Amino acid sequence: MRLAIMGGTFDPIHYGHLVVAEQARYKFQCDKVLFIPAKSPPHKDDALISPVEHRLAMTRLAVDSNSYFEASSLEIERPGPSYTIDTVKEVKRLYYPSKLFFITGADAVLEIISWKSVEELLSLCYFVAATRPGYDISNLQQKLGALPEKYLEKIIPIYIPALAISSTDIRKRVKAGEPIKYLLPESVENYIKNHRLYSEK
Ligand code: NAP
Repeated sequence: MRLAIMGGTFDPIHYGHLVVAEQARYKFQCDKVLFIPAKSPPHKDDALISPVEHRLAMTRLAVDSNSYFEASSLEIERPGPSYTIDTVKEVKRLYYPSKLFFITGADAVLEIISWKSVEELLSLCYFVAATRPGYDISNLQQKLGALPEKYLEKIIPIYIPALAISSTDIRKRVKAGEPIKYLLPESVENYIKNHRLYSEK
């Protein structure tokens, strides 16, 4: 099967992410997209992100209506920081995909040179770098120019207008008491309300 991993912090998941996943699934003819919330992103301060249990619960609610999508607790169950190389190897061992894609934001892909075992990672899967409106794609080409050609061609940018929606903006809106309706699924909006996420405690 052709499989895609949707990797991200998803704090919270929103329609931009869902559109990216659906566009990539169609473009690369994937049979399944596994949404894997990063438990403890290696480059982030744990105190600044919501507990992974909340992020996973919201991801589950968001993917519920698409039979190609599945939320996965793979990174929650693994101890230590969530390095993508470990996630990709585990997914390969569990699913034996004929082709594997790792979808994430272009800004995250921009830093890939500093990720653990980057060359091995790019030999195991394709990277799909989702960009927002106004994003300067030449940044990606310049910064990743140091990678050998055979790895560079494993990184595929895709342009998604719906990514104008961002998790940072949604968190700010909730904190300011502004509406977030239509930026994310209603079930996720209700979850945020019920658990009082992102508002001052
Ligand atoms: P981030 O810094 O939170 O996000 C960077 C940008 O990409 C943000 O604008 C974000 O928008 C967007 N983005 C994130 N995930 C996306 C997705 N799946 N689709 C579309 N846009 C997305 O990045 P992150 O979430 O921490 O990291 C992304 C992935 O890379 C995670 O799976 C993480 O584990 C992995 N990673 C691995 C290593 C490593 O192995 N050393 C290091 C860093 C990251 P929103 O805020 O709106 O989502």
